[in-house]
Amino acid sequence: MDTIHNLTQQYSNIQLEEEEEEIGLVYGNALATETTLDDRFCLVGKFLTTRSIDFDAMQHMIASLWQPGRGMFAKELDSNRYLFQFYHELDIQRVIDRSPWMFNNSLLVMARLKQGEDPKLVPLNRIDIWVQLHDLRPGFFSQRVVKDAGNVIGTFMESDPKNFDGMWRSYLRVRVSIVVDKPLQRRMKMRMEGGELFWVNFKYEHIPTFCFICGLLGHSERFCPKLFDIPAEQEVKPYGAWMRALPRRRNHQIDTKWLRPFMGGSAPREGGFEGSPEVGQTEIIDPLSSAAIVGGKSGIAILSSSNLGKNGQERSYGEDNSP
Ligand SMILES: [Zn+2]
Repeated sequence: MDTIHNLTQQYSNIQLEEEEEEIGLVYGNALATETTLDDRFCLVGKFLTTRSIDFDAMQHMIASLWQPGRGMFAKELDSNRYLFQFYHELDIQRVIDRSPWMFNNSLLVMARLKQGEDPKLVPLNRIDIWVQLHDLRPGFFSQRVVKDAGNVIGTFMESDPKNFDGMWRSYLRVRVSIVVDKPLQRRMKMRMEGGELFWVNFKYEHIPTFCFICGLLGHSERFCPKLFDIPAEQEVKPYGAWMRALPRRRNHQIDTKWLRPFMGGSAPREGGFEGSPEVGQTEIIDPLSSAAIVGGKSGIAILSSSNLGKNGQERSYGEDNSP
């Protein structure tokens, strides 16, 4: 017994000594790495859900939504961490520009992989989203307001190029990057120096499920962790469906032969009116849309697909707030 004990002791001492020795390796900068991953066009993503993801179903669904011209490759890196590899800048950029994306009503939180970065360590906590600034007063329709409001909502990314193209609008649009583990911003106060104070309300486009109690993305109020702390009768919902922007386009089955493309005002738009609309299958931009219908009661002009670029209208979004 003693001998065994001694041996064990001895053995552990040896281990300890070896571990104490400096055995670290130092390399210069010029080490050639043999990564098999072409990381030029890669996205890393996770889904904001506690449910498990069926990887195979997900990759098929996502690929059919993204439709990359040069194809794509998806890989499960970890539980709820995926790599999406593209083969052309155009394909990956389209996916980024048209985000956020959903699968089974779960939000995909993604980030572009930087070259040389470990996909398993990429922080995943931000989404890019279009937000509409409503109830702005005259005198506040300015690029500076768009940028400042964007930085209140999250981090300003870009202003809708059509914000100031000469057409009347009831709101401005701003693309922002928001952190998903912080409550959504609902509104902000604004005023001119010495002027009257008013509220600017934020409406999020294609916003996935969020909680009306705590304002976080990823769960509905039925599953809010705050419910464990607040008695049901004291439960307040500072957030609400009013923070969702209305769908910007609808399909209508109407005869459009009387309608003409918008010709006056600003210069023709990229991807503007394309040919004569066919009777029956014409897309009409929602009247509340920023690039929608111009003119008063007498003159209506419709712009076809002029305002779709980054909105991915064919995405499947749940309009309800169910989890
Ligand atoms: Zn909540």
